[in-house]
Amino acid sequence: MTPDLILTNARVLTMDAGRPEAEAVAVAAGRIVAVGARAEVERLAGPETRVIDAGGRTLLPGFVESHLHLVLGGAELAHLQIGGLHGAEALARAFRSFAAAHPERPLLMAQGADYGMLDRPVTRQDLDAIIADRPIAMTAHDHHTVWANTAALRAAGVLHGAVMPHGHEVVMGPDGLATGELREFEAFAPVIALGGEARLNLGIATGEEPSPWPAEAEQAIDRAKVARGLRHCAAHGITSMVNMDGNRYTLELLRALQREGGLTARVKVPFHFKPHMELAALERAEEMRRDFDDEWLSSGFVKMFMDGVIDSRTAYLLNDYPGMPGLRGEPLFSPARFAEIATEIDRRGMQIAVHAIGDGAVRLTIDGYEAAQRANGRRDSRHRIEHIEMIDRADIARLGALGITASLQPPHPPGAMDFPLQPTLEVIGRDRWRDSYLWRTLAEAGAPVAFASDWPVTDVSVLRGIGAALTRAPYEGCADERLGLMATLQAYTAGGAWAAHREAITGRIRPGLAADLVLLGGDLLGTAPGEIGGMGIALTICGGRVTHAGAGFA
Ligand SMILES: [Zn+2]
Repeated sequence: MTPDLILTNARVLTMDAGRPEAEAVAVAAGRIVAVGARAEVERLAGPETRVIDAGGRTLLPGFVESHLHLVLGGAELAHLQIGGLHGAEALARAFRSFAAAHPERPLLMAQGADYGMLDRPVTRQDLDAIIADRPIAMTAHDHHTVWANTAALRAAGVLHGAVMPHGHEVVMGPDGLATGELREFEAFAPVIALGGEARLNLGIATGEEPSPWPAEAEQAIDRAKVARGLRHCAAHGITSMVNMDGNRYTLELLRALQREGGLTARVKVPFHFKPHMELAALERAEEMRRDFDDEWLSSGFVKMFMDGVIDSRTAYLLNDYPGMPGLRGEPLFSPARFAEIATEIDRRGMQIAVHAIGDGAVRLTIDGYEAAQRANGRRDSRHRIEHIEMIDRADIARLGALGITASLQPPHPPGAMDFPLQPTLEVIGRDRWRDSYLWRTLAEAGAPVAFASDWPVTDVSVLRGIGAALTRAPYEGCADERLGLMATLQAYTAGGAWAAHREAITGRIRPGLAADLVLLGGDLLGTAPGEIGGMGIALTICGGRVTHAGAGFA
C-alpha cells in the first residue's frame, strides 16, 4: 500500500526490542507500514504521499498517559490556576482579578493549592477575607481536599455539616459550623456542583450516572470541556490515555466526540466501584466493557480507591503517622471485603486498578490480588496499583511475583517537579523516606512500571514528567530511585500500553501497529535532562492523523 505519510530524517526510538532505532517511518490507513533507514522508507513514497522532514528530531511512539482524569482536567482548564502561589496576598490578588474577569460565574473555582499555602490550615474565614459576597473555593493539587468560603458552603448546603460516607468529611469547627475544609470527593461534590460541573464530577465522586440523563444541550457543554482536555493532551504528545475515574456517561461523551471526528486519543474508561456498592454493581462494568470495545474507546477495568493521600493523613499506613499516636488512616475496604470484590472482578475477566498510597493500603491491595489469583488461578489480569507512595520492604518483591503493575507518577514525589517538599516529607517522617516514592527499587524487583501525570493533579506534560523522572534528587540518606532514559521512555510508551492491555495496538513503532507517533521539538538524546521539559512537541499523530502540529509543522 502506498503510504499517505512518511516521516523521515528523524531519530526514531521505536521502543521495539527487534529494531530499537531507525531513521524513517511510513504510515498508511492509520497504521505503521514501514520502519527503517531513510532510503529504504523514502522510496515507498507515491505522488500523493506527504513527506515530512523531521530535521533530526526524535520520533517516539505516541505517549501513553497511564493515569489521568480527562474530564476533570478538561473542565479545570477554565478554572483559576494557583499552582505554586504562596501566601494570602498572592492568593487574594489572583482570586480578585479572576472574579473581575468572570462576573457571571456562580462559583469561582481555583486549582492547584498547596496544603502549606498559608502556612497553617486554611479556613473559610481566610477565603472570606479575599471574597465574601460570592462563592469561592480552591482545590488542593492532589484533588483530595477543597477549601470553600462561607458563601460557597452556605450555597452548597454544607455550612452546618453533612452526613458523609466513610472517608469523606465536612470538617466542623468548635462553633458548630464547617471550617471550610472538605475532605474527599463526596464532601466537596456539593460545592463543585455550584459551578455546573456536578455531572462531570460523578465519575470520580460516586461512580453513578447523571440522573436524569443530561439533555443534548447539557451534553454539548460537557463534550466541549472533554474536547478541550483532549486537545490539551494532544499538544503534549499523548495518543493513548487511561482515565482513572468514570461511568457510562463519560464513555458516551467520548463516543459522541468519536463520531464527530474529535477523538484525538485512544481512551480507556473504568467502572468506578465505590465502597457502598454491592457486587451486583459489577453488571454495569460488564455492560460498559461490552458496549465500548474498539481500538479507540474501551472499558474492561474497574477502578477503586483504597485510601486517601499523605498530606491530609488519609493515606492508610501500617504504622502511626509521626507524632500522632493512634492515627494511621483507614482503608476504604476491609481486607476480607476487598479480597471478595477483587476475586469477583477477576473472575469476570476484568482488570483492577486500585489507588493505594499508604503502605497499609498497598499491602491490603496486594493481599486482595493474591486472594483473587488463589481463587481463580493465574490469568493475564495485569491488575495494577496506582501511586504506591509508601511501601513496606516486605511487600516490594510481591508486585513482580504476582505480576502487579506499579502505576507511578514521576511528577508526584515532593520536590521532583511542582510539589513542595513540605508538608509531605514531614508527614511521612524521616525514617520512612527510604520507603517512599520508590521507582527503581520496584522495577528491579520485577514490577512492570507505567508512568503518568495524574492530570489535573499535576501538569500533564509528558516531557516535563520525563525531565522530573531523570532529575529527581534522592531524599537525604535514600537511594537514587531514577530509572534510566530508555526505561523512563518505556514507562511512558510501551510499558503503559502493556499495562492497559493495548500492546497489540500501540506503544511501539513497529509495522502493523497503529500510527500513534510523537515528534519532539528536538533531539532527545542530545538534550540535557534539565532541558527536556522545555523541548516542546513538534507533531502528534494518532491513528495516522495529525492531532497537534507545532510551529513549522502546521
Ligand atoms: Zn488519579
